[in-house]
Amino acid sequence: MSEHLESVMGTFGSNVFNESTMKERLPKAVFKSLKKTLDGKQPLDPSAADVIANAMKDWAVEKGATHYCHWFQPMTGMTAEKHDSFISPTPDGKTIMVFSGKELAQGEPDASSFPSGGLRATFEARGYTAWDCTSPVFIKKDGDNTTLYIPSAFCSYTGEALDKKTPLLRSMDALSKQAIRVLKALGNTTSSVVTATMGPEQEYFLVDSSFYQDRLDLVLAGRTLFGAKPPRGQELDDHYFGSLDERVASFMHEVNVELWKLGVSAKTQHNEVSPAQYELAPVFATVNVATDHNQLTMETLQKVAKRHGFVCLLHEKPFAGVNGSGKHNNWSMVTDDGINLLDPGDTPHENMIFLTMLCAVISAVDKHAGLLRASVANTGNEHRLGANEAPPAIVSVFLGDQLGDIFEQLAGAGAKSSKKGGELKLGVSTLPPLPKDCTDRNRTSPFAYTGNRFEFRMVGSTQSIAGPNFVINTIVADALCNIADELEKSKNVTQATQKILKRLATDHARIIFNGDNYSSDWAEEAARRGLPNIRSTVESIEGIPTKENCQLFKKHGVLTPAELKARTEILLEVYSMQINIEAGTTLSMAKRQIMPSCIDYSSRLGNAVAAVNGAGVDPVVQVSLLKRVNGLITDLQNAIDSLETAKTKANNIGKVEKQAESCRDDVIPAMNAVRAAADELETIVDADLWPLPSYAEMLFMR
Ligand code: ADP
Ligand code: MG
Repeated sequence: MSEHLESVMGTFGSNVFNESTMKERLPKAVFKSLKKTLDGKQPLDPSAADVIANAMKDWAVEKGATHYCHWFQPMTGMTAEKHDSFISPTPDGKTIMVFSGKELAQGEPDASSFPSGGLRATFEARGYTAWDCTSPVFIKKDGDNTTLYIPSAFCSYTGEALDKKTPLLRSMDALSKQAIRVLKALGNTTSSVVTATMGPEQEYFLVDSSFYQDRLDLVLAGRTLFGAKPPRGQELDDHYFGSLDERVASFMHEVNVELWKLGVSAKTQHNEVSPAQYELAPVFATVNVATDHNQLTMETLQKVAKRHGFVCLLHEKPFAGVNGSGKHNNWSMVTDDGINLLDPGDTPHENMIFLTMLCAVISAVDKHAGLLRASVANTGNEHRLGANEAPPAIVSVFLGDQLGDIFEQLAGAGAKSSKKGGELKLGVSTLPPLPKDCTDRNRTSPFAYTGNRFEFRMVGSTQSIAGPNFVINTIVADALCNIADELEKSKNVTQATQKILKRLATDHARIIFNGDNYSSDWAEEAARRGLPNIRSTVESIEGIPTKENCQLFKKHGVLTPAELKARTEILLEVYSMQINIEAGTTLSMAKRQIMPSCIDYSSRLGNAVAAVNGAGVDPVVQVSLLKRVNGLITDLQNAIDSLETAKTKANNIGKVEKQAESCRDDVIPAMNAVRAAADELETIVDADLWPLPSYAEMLFMR
């Protein structure tokens, strides 16, 4: 093996207490028992916890760790950690390093300041973290500090979920339970657990940190609140999949190495559509591990960017006029004996299990389109969904030719044949014919079948993927539950399955759309089909706690109605707070940076008018420029005044829903008006006086 290869292979997972490390370091019986837990087959044996904790501590200390922390994912959508050292002073004035099973299994951070949506008051400080042992423990080095990280769930003293992870884990159980029922009914005798698999593709922007530092909007709001359209954007399609800039390539390499150490299987990297936009995709993993890994990926991108003089922007829409960033969420289900339940095989029309799973997903998406839409509703994503960008706010499913055809056959007399892919001849004698996939891709679909999985493309780039995925897991579990109820009662399973598939293919045909999702024709067609088109984040979130949704999450043990309502409230609060931050930043930049520069410029023009006049020449251009600048300065000041009024009005509303609505209806339009006047001024005012780095600089200079 070459030295380099050895170093890459040695690096991968080197900071993870993974299965092979456990096997090496744990007594056989303890490892065996833990393995059963890891495979989802039994809860953790408490008597093994001390042994496991001690082995972990020894391993971590050997790698330089002095601390451990329960690493959890509160409703902020970010991660949280509070470190404790392993030291335990001894009576002789020295110390030993200890870590008990109890400390591993459970933590009790005060954590009272996290959003709880009214589930508890701030004085009710106690919260618990519980080790999610199905996601491996790892060590992370930040500067000189090395800590052992324990992926955890976070709940209140009364047991309510206060995080993103708990409902995800609960939804995984629900999905497994219902999928196994269906598999058993359809004659599968070998599988006992079904897990959701997930490969999230992460998009992001890189800007030079020298520009970032001069943009208060990027620093505080993560996106540009001002910026005139540059003469060049993404119209040449020359950035997409373009050759990598050397500085960016070095950054990507270091990101990969850091992620590989953490066991994150960073795999694909490329330039994205917008200038300065990039993507990183890992190899898929179990959905809770993928969720943790995506958090680590976002964190690592930001950290490593700084080392290379960049800032990594994860916001859904950092720049107007070019593409925003999403997180394509590739989802499937796999059994413990390795069957991908969404893999069609060679003859999908004969594959009963596959067809049943497929129809279950399609019916779930149709029935719960609103919930799926709400699972990706945040402040940033409002700029993408339904705003002439990928993907639209209308949820639909792309199946492609082969499965679309089979789905139609199901609704008729049953599925009898599968279209074949065939060969692709390139017309070049030296190139062999290429085997052609049975189905083309559709880049515009929000929920696209891509050969052996579904790709949910509406997820925002800043979002934790836990939310969208616990929704997908739950709605599919529910569809499977209904199918299982029917199959378990039937005498003739084949006939019953055919009947169910026919019904699902008929009832949910309206959600299938293989065309261009960006076209206005589709919006009209979707309306005719009765598919919801919810553009506003607030409206979408307000639709979450319906009676049906409360029942759905309760039935599958994912969220109680109180937990669901609390979440809704948090989402609305966060929306209002983020808009309020954007409005405050807009005001600060407009009043303290942009207006003073424009006034400088106008006084310079005023002096020029006087000077030219004094010289006995008519200052025609100077006067007309001055009038124009002065007019725009007036517009800017009026817009600033209106934004102050709108912001104050929204801030004074006590009710969460009403406040969020006012942010949407009053504050955002007022903010846009300030930007419009300022952006117009940017195209006229002397570049040397303009206080902000331009779009051209941020997007094209590195
Ligand atoms: P695309 O061409 O769609 O951009 P990428 O290679 O960028 O594809 O990303 C595809 C993602 O889908 C990867 O993260 C990959 O690991 C993931 N994936 C592949 N198979 C599955 C599966 N069965 N379940 C979940 N994710 C999968
Ligand atoms: Mg991709």
